[in-house]
Amino acid sequence: MHLHVVDHPLVAHKLTMLRDADTASPTFRQLADELVTLLAYEATRTVHVSPVTVQTPVAPAEGVHMVRPGPLVVPILRAGLGMLEGMTRLVPTAEVGFLGLVRDERTLHATTYAERLPADLSGRQCFVLDPMLATGGTLASAIHYLAERNAAEVTAICLLAAPEGLQLLERETARLGIPLTVVTASVDERLNEVGYIVPGLGDAGDRLYGSAGS
Ligand code: URA
Repeated sequence: MHLHVVDHPLVAHKLTMLRDADTASPTFRQLADELVTLLAYEATRTVHVSPVTVQTPVAPAEGVHMVRPGPLVVPILRAGLGMLEGMTRLVPTAEVGFLGLVRDERTLHATTYAERLPADLSGRQCFVLDPMLATGGTLASAIHYLAERNAAEVTAICLLAAPEGLQLLERETARLGIPLTVVTASVDERLNEVGYIVPGLGDAGDRLYGSAGS
């Protein structure tokens, strides 16, 4: 597993505003969107491209095109939806799959309530969007779905990560034999007794969308 903590003053500035409990939902959504675009820029450094020659008005020029089929982007519902626009703005040709996973707040286990993914992901790069890498259970389940469809590699884009979740993912991806990169704005201190990241930013879904249904 490769961990990439993006070290950039704009990333740190936006993350600080997201952490602030006084930041209201409309601003939180806007900042999350902007932060994802910055993280996605780093996360797509290794996106697959092939050489191509184009004709400028002056002369032929060597360049690259993204290979087809392009990457698959998978937001984990619900909070990952708040990251989708920020990602597809950078990679508008990406295909989008969906996974709905909910964490039991008592056992901290993730269960699946929705799944819409291509049946065959052979050779494909997959980008999973999940704002909070906490216990790692949700992301581990998502990676299982992608690995069993033969995805070539997975990059998880997370606003924040906890050391406990990173350790779980390290073990799981070694077991599954699938390359994983985690791109995040920060690795925080730890999880608390109810599985929240400390200092974190609270419940990402609630801060994006309010607490409807909880
Ligand atoms: N999910 C969240 O939304 N926040 C946390 O701190 C942990 C999991």
